[in-house]
Amino acid sequence: MKNIKDYNLEELKQEFIKLGEKPYRAEQVFKWLYTTDVTSFDEMSNLSLELRDKLKNEFSICIYNILRKQESTDGTKKYLFDVLDGNAIETVLMSYHHGYSICVSSQIGCKMGCKFCASTGIPFVRNLTSGEIIEQILAVQRDSKVKISNIVFMGIGEPFDNYDNVLNAIRIINNQKGLNIGARHISVSTSGIVPKIYDFANEDLQCTLSISLHATTNEQRSSMMPVNNKYSIEELMKACKDYIAKTNKRISFEYALAKDNNETLEDAKRLVKLLKGMLCHVNLIPINKIENGKYTKSTNENIMKFRDYLNDNGIVATIRRELGSDIEAACGQLRRKNLE
Ligand code: SAH
Repeated sequence: MKNIKDYNLEELKQEFIKLGEKPYRAEQVFKWLYTTDVTSFDEMSNLSLELRDKLKNEFSICIYNILRKQESTDGTKKYLFDVLDGNAIETVLMSYHHGYSICVSSQIGCKMGCKFCASTGIPFVRNLTSGEIIEQILAVQRDSKVKISNIVFMGIGEPFDNYDNVLNAIRIINNQKGLNIGARHISVSTSGIVPKIYDFANEDLQCTLSISLHATTNEQRSSMMPVNNKYSIEELMKACKDYIAKTNKRISFEYALAKDNNETLEDAKRLVKLLKGMLCHVNLIPINKIENGKYTKSTNENIMKFRDYLNDNGIVATIRRELGSDIEAACGQLRRKNLE
């Protein structure tokens, strides 16, 4: 059956017209779905019983079951959701002083094969649909009773390998009649699928683009991220410059620091050279150790030295706060897994 959350408002209106219904009815349903806690058509009290029946025959409302919920000592919550076909995905809720952020997954599994990321450990299964992406937000809000204000596409999966569904999800999340979360409060992170960076520049969206850079030479980056064999650092930087020129928006470069790997002064110097003059920001992430992973975190001292070198040389860099590592909810620790 069709998942009603897969449709943006315009598409839903078209679906309603096909059913012989007025478009404003679609708007009413849209409001129920995204601004209330209702989980069934029966609860949509301003629709006739006849219309509720019609919708029940036509659409499902994807509602996740929580398979597991873990809470970190820092307040971060990690959810394992049953996506209703026997697969499970993880979603993380983080609390910041400026509100609640959610880290959503875009795929069941991931194809990218980054050597330091746990999401790669298990084979790729499939893309999530837009509705399945959005239900992560709704399910977390229903359970936690908080209103989410920021969304990062940094959970399991490569958002630009599921480009159309991610983009449609963003449009639904953005809609003022629904969740109404402004694009400025949405970040999309990519491992560097170059053609999609060019596409994204043309979308006329105010989202933040984050690029997982992590290394400064092709040899080093390819050893960490196989995607670099396909799209080199030079091609990636060219696409980033095009993005900035077209959108006039700042790019956020993610750089996960690992001991004896990419943390030296030479690395910092090459990074400055690579990013000099670009409208950007560097987000330094202490690399999180994963099961069977060969990388270990740089020391705090080295991370701060790295940051200071960047800042002293004109590149704005901050260190990402580590949240939820005690429940394996931190960057790179999410897996597509079922309950053991
Ligand atoms: N596939 C996308 C988004 C998911 S990961 C991407 O690659 O950008 C979100 C961020 O966490 C990425 O920058 C990713 O490289 C980083 N990351 C993955 N594993 C990590 C780990 N073990 N420690 C720290 N950061 C990690």
